[in-house]
Amino acid sequence: MKATVLLVEDEKKLRELIRSYLERAGFTVLSTGSGAEAITLAVSAAPDLVVLDLGLPDVPGETVAREVRATGPTGAVPILMLTAKAAEEDRITGLELGADDYVTKPFSPRELVLRVQAILRRGAPPARPGAASYGGRILVIDEPRREVTVRGAGVDLTPTEWGILVALATVPGRVYSRSELINRVRGYEFEGYERTVDSHVKNLRRKVEGDPGSPVIVQTVFGGGYRLGLAYDG
Ligand code: CA
Repeated sequence: MKATVLLVEDEKKLRELIRSYLERAGFTVLSTGSGAEAITLAVSAAPDLVVLDLGLPDVPGETVAREVRATGPTGAVPILMLTAKAAEEDRITGLELGADDYVTKPFSPRELVLRVQAILRRGAPPARPGAASYGGRILVIDEPRREVTVRGAGVDLTPTEWGILVALATVPGRVYSRSELINRVRGYEFEGYERTVDSHVKNLRRKVEGDPGSPVIVQTVFGGGYRLGLAYDG
């Protein structure tokens, strides 16, 4: 069956360009330049994925994302966001809003199609009891099974890395100091001083971040400690 993509972009030329690429790739495409109409379409057409421009004239993209996302059968329609700025802030915002991925303008339509296909292939892992997901399922932590999945792929963590990640995920966005993390992971036989937290975080990032140089999952808060950069999916 053809997957349906809801395309929300107010720049007409860009909208038509993306539409033609998506249709050529075999998708059924519904498109609109209005955020309000996008929310209505998401309810009536139940798209498999939404390509959403964050800068819309009528409704803030953030609001559209929240509303659209809540409409799917599981309340988790995948969203690929189009953002105008490459600022780290925007990326974090996009991921916090539950975007599954984002592309920064200008982008190549071909790349956008590849990203859409990747998200749909990845699919939504079935929600399992005990598993918590973050950032629109970018990160899934299954505590009972002691498993971590990042972007659909399993990740092997040492007991200390696991302890740090689980501690940070307790309250996403909250800053945990190094000493607090040491206390929290002591149950996992953590030994050492505050500085060693940094090297464990470094190793952890190598395993979970797409680009460890600009982490989106385990973020440094200067002078504070670390925090989970993804929102709990609820
Ligand atoms: Ca726009």
